[in-house]
Amino acid sequence: MLTPLSLIPSFGFGDRLGLATPGHIAALRGTKFAPIFAQQSVRENTRTGRTPQQVLDDAKRAVDTAKWDAPWGADADHLKMLEEIPSFVDAGYTFFTIDPGEYVDNAADSDPLDVLKRKAASVMNWDHISMLYLDQNGEQVWGNFELVSLQRAVVKYNNAIQHAVSMFNRLSQFKEYFDFEVSVDETDSPTTPLEHFFIASELTRLGVRFTSLAPRFIGRFEKGVDYIGDLDALDTELAKHAAVTAHFGTYKLSLHSGSDKFSVYPLIAKHWGNRIHVKTAGTSYLEALRVLASHEPDLFLKIYSLGRECYEVDKRTYHVSADLKMLPNTNDLPSLLNDFHAREVLHVTFGSAIGKFGVELKSALKKHEIAYYEGLRIHFEKHLNLLKD
Ligand code: ZN
Repeated sequence: MLTPLSLIPSFGFGDRLGLATPGHIAALRGTKFAPIFAQQSVRENTRTGRTPQQVLDDAKRAVDTAKWDAPWGADADHLKMLEEIPSFVDAGYTFFTIDPGEYVDNAADSDPLDVLKRKAASVMNWDHISMLYLDQNGEQVWGNFELVSLQRAVVKYNNAIQHAVSMFNRLSQFKEYFDFEVSVDETDSPTTPLEHFFIASELTRLGVRFTSLAPRFIGRFEKGVDYIGDLDALDTELAKHAAVTAHFGTYKLSLHSGSDKFSVYPLIAKHWGNRIHVKTAGTSYLEALRVLASHEPDLFLKIYSLGRECYEVDKRTYHVSADLKMLPNTNDLPSLLNDFHAREVLHVTFGSAIGKFGVELKSALKKHEIAYYEGLRIHFEKHLNLLKD
């Protein structure tokens, strides 16, 4: 049943080729997670040439075939503009992820005090906000802002919050029940726990019923590879973010770029238990390429060579650090899918690859569908097992 999932622990499976859902179902059956089987951002749809309706129809077909009769959701991911909403509503999506990242003032983190003061004063509701958040006299555990930390939070996030409110209000005109997520995970600088508090507090105050929130954490969450950064520092930081979510108790923590973050899952499970949503996408595409590497080496080599050509351009809208000069020199093609640099190169060039070889790619996967589903099952069981609390 396609339905909002509210606070049930959930796991999102982006599927750029529209063929992976049977493998996702096999991995997820019997776990505590409710699945999002259709999850596609506008950016992904542009690159794969699919419409919101097609993405949902592909997932629905697989759900029917597998006789999956438990709740599942469909995520309109990273919606940035009001005009993007209707086509996802019409198609029947249940989960809407708002990305107000373009309204975040990243410079607020480093603005000198006089600039910060001027910017804060120009925020329309500054007087009201400062009254709400300053001078709490230490009465509450959270939300004790110093003037400067409040100025930074307001300057950095106020416009983004206002945009999220507009998106929520527009959606509410179309639908009564839906999951609503606010994500600031693709901003330039991390979200501090105090800023996380400010965002959640303002959204709540302004009447936004959000079911999940995705902060940007410290360190690097790059696509299709494990976490890059200091895990102990992350653990400490996550504990503070978990205190914020516990304070409100009304929404799940959402982890974006959740593919292959094997070292982070135990920390997420430790701090949030069941109050989590995890998003993956590119890793299912990489599992498809793993099948090609074993069974259709010629096609794999064409995709790999195109990937190397297109990487420098295609990587621009992603946070990745792979270096073409570091690609391994090997004839063992499946081993490339275990290499950091090759994974990122193959990951971010999916749009170019699908544009040129999509038909061949899909027919090869249909030919080797048992291997594909089995690869997906094993790969996602690894994810889901580490998220057990
Ligand atoms: Zn994201």
